[in-house]
Amino acid sequence: MTTMTATRTPYDELAHISRSASLLGGTAGLLGWDQEVMMPPGGLEYRSLQLAQLARLQHQTFTDERVGDLLAECEADAGVTDDPDSATAVNVRELRRDYDRQTRLPAELVEEEAKLASLGQHIWQEARRKSDFTTFRPLLEKIVDLMRRKAECYGWPDDGEAWDALAEDYEPGCTAKQIEEVFTPLRDRLRTLLQGLMGSSTKPPNTFNELPLDLGRQRRFVRGIAEAIGFDFDRGRLDISTHPFCSGSHCNDVRLTTRFHECNVNDALGSTMHEAGHGIYEQGLLTEHVGTPMGSAVSLGIHESQSRMWENQVGRSHAFWKWAHPKLREFFGSAANGVDLETAYGGANIVTPGFIRVEADEATYNMHIMIRFELERAILRGDLEVGDIPEVWNAKYRDYLGIDVPDDARGCLQDIHWSMAAMGYFPTYTLGNLYCAQFFETAMDQIPGLEAQFERGKFGDLKQWLNENIHAHGRRYRAADLCEHVTGKPLSADPLMRHLEGKLRPLYGL
Ligand code: ZN
Repeated sequence: MTTMTATRTPYDELAHISRSASLLGGTAGLLGWDQEVMMPPGGLEYRSLQLAQLARLQHQTFTDERVGDLLAECEADAGVTDDPDSATAVNVRELRRDYDRQTRLPAELVEEEAKLASLGQHIWQEARRKSDFTTFRPLLEKIVDLMRRKAECYGWPDDGEAWDALAEDYEPGCTAKQIEEVFTPLRDRLRTLLQGLMGSSTKPPNTFNELPLDLGRQRRFVRGIAEAIGFDFDRGRLDISTHPFCSGSHCNDVRLTTRFHECNVNDALGSTMHEAGHGIYEQGLLTEHVGTPMGSAVSLGIHESQSRMWENQVGRSHAFWKWAHPKLREFFGSAANGVDLETAYGGANIVTPGFIRVEADEATYNMHIMIRFELERAILRGDLEVGDIPEVWNAKYRDYLGIDVPDDARGCLQDIHWSMAAMGYFPTYTLGNLYCAQFFETAMDQIPGLEAQFERGKFGDLKQWLNENIHAHGRRYRAADLCEHVTGKPLSADPLMRHLEGKLRPLYGL
């Protein structure tokens, strides 16, 4: 044994393994970004092999038996774990959680899942193209069966259900029962709000969303906004891809993408602010904790709360548009002539019940998520047969959004998630909206004159508040605990409903 390893404590060794696994994950992140943004089509086959190899190495590094021994040694060391909120205790607790989950799945099941997910996407694409659920049904039945077996391997508490075990991959600590408690009042109040908005004869003008604007100028415009709200371009990039996303390798190299349409600068702006919000979270994780749980994001729901805050609470506010509206003239010249402040603000806040989740506005979006949650929960419980999905799906769209789904492509075949064997994922989007609204209300209370700052293009205080209250904690708290810690209250539907009602009712003359 060399002196170096002799002086290294079990905790140091554990942290070193965590950072090594994270180096591989970050490298895979960059290759994934490259695949979407830069890679020529010919690179695809070899790129899949490269990514599979990195995933294998990362899994091996982290599930090595030595990790189990080190965890046990650290857990027995009071100096490491005595203060449960210390960085060392948090890292040991979270690495234990990750290790136990990763070692609980048999290798055959992991392999079967990878195969089914890859085949699933292929068959789903074909079924969606033909708008024919029956083509996808046999494979989805296999996926559901696998998801049940996977949940059994993970296990769940007596008062829980299989859905909880799967959701743990995306939203640690979150259960279907907790979600139901928040989603039910949200659904009822949203339905009332939507009925009111749709029944009103006053509607915001849509002209801003139909305005043809030069793509190069759009690109400079949204980049300027991302920079203004605090995305650090010395530690990040903004590029173009078909579906906008945020990835990268670590907090000092964060990659965002967005997309552009000639006639919809709002889509580019919303996508850019959304992804920049994810990016600001990643950049806000502390460099000193990189590669360990203390330097990682809490959950998908909390990640989404950060993107939605900049996209919706900031980017669709009147205060923001007071600052951003003159920029339309500055960037687009006379092409933006017909757009006054109210047209720009109203155009960013139009509500239209539609079939497609990813095109949904801020208010109807959550209905799309609740429908998916109710369906996947019922499927996993055995209360709903896979073959009955289209019928139940369409009935819920009629009930919650008042629209008749015309075909499976615009109905239950529109999302990729189930074909990829991702169940328990959908609610993280609405949890993001809920956490976001609750965090933002607290920020408004704690930062005097926040909206007046937006009117002057000043976003630094909000960013710093998020840095200190959310980003710097890494995985110290579970999402629900973080919410209580930051806002003093458990998660509730009230702040989101106050936000939506307070903004939309006046816009629709109610
Ligand atoms: Zn997002």
